[in-house]
Amino acid sequence: MRITKTFSETRMVATGQIGLVPTMGFLHEGHLSLIEAARDTNDTVVMSLFVNPLQFDREEDLARYPRDLERDVGLAAAAGADIVFAPELEEMYPGEQLTRVIVNRLSDEMEGPNRPGHFEGVATAVAKLLAGVRPDRSYFGRKDAQQLAIVKRMAAELSFPGSIVGVPIVRERDGLALSSRNIFLSPQERQDALALNRGLTAAADAAERGERAASSLINSVYAEIGAVSDLSVEYVTLASQDLVQPIDELDRPAFLALAAWSGETRLIDNVHLDRSDDGFFADRGTRLRTESVLYRGEG
Ligand code: AMP
Repeated sequence: MRITKTFSETRMVATGQIGLVPTMGFLHEGHLSLIEAARDTNDTVVMSLFVNPLQFDREEDLARYPRDLERDVGLAAAAGADIVFAPELEEMYPGEQLTRVIVNRLSDEMEGPNRPGHFEGVATAVAKLLAGVRPDRSYFGRKDAQQLAIVKRMAAELSFPGSIVGVPIVRERDGLALSSRNIFLSPQERQDALALNRGLTAAADAAERGERAASSLINSVYAEIGAVSDLSVEYVTLASQDLVQPIDELDRPAFLALAAWSGETRLIDNVHLDRSDDGFFADRGTRLRTESVLYRGEG
């Protein structure tokens, strides 16, 4: 496996069909599942590691975001990445940056108003990665449902040639969606956070039984998370998968998504509701059989 620092070196080393997995590092099995998906259909798998300052709306979040290149390189290599592209700030954003990529409408709801400038930062960095690495396929987690929709729209409208592939959420054994930020949760906060997945699972079950009213699906989530007084909810929304617009009825591919704070840590989670032959199928993601690498070496 090679570690590269520049776009030109990355393009020189990569051969054949290229699969790109953009991440901010501090890897876990969610990221590694993107490598596995890319491994299946590409000759070269490039994982990028870059903590993108443009997408952080809070200084303290950027400052405390976990970073460990050595750890990440080991995990990426073991999962089958061929290249870890770890650019310095200067390679991504040399000099003054006057260009921003904005995907209107899709950024208006949910994460958008709660994290000003976030999606502009994401879309700008992803556009730069697509232009610089020139992958045939790029892999994004369904964990960040709105981000996935925005990246798809951006790549289509700006005519980036490769395709964007969405990959199911990877969860801990107990259902908590993997996130690099989970390492900040105290044992009690982590326990509280399990209500998020419980609520989404109840709603997923209801949707598969034929419930179509957004209010009812959303209430199923609140029935679980409302019972945990230490969780502070920002939103629970049923939105269309393509335009990320809130909908009243489950009548098209959608996702039921939420954001909540457990202590000082902001968590997001969702279930995608895809059409099936006889209604809707909920993508609840996959669960690990053992504890994730996020807890390796602790306790
Ligand atoms: P991040 O490093 O958090 O920016 O995430 C990099 C990529 O990994 C994004 O496409 C995320 O959606 C994806 N990802 C993060 N957590 C998970 C997870 N638990 N399951 C699947 N994909 C994930």
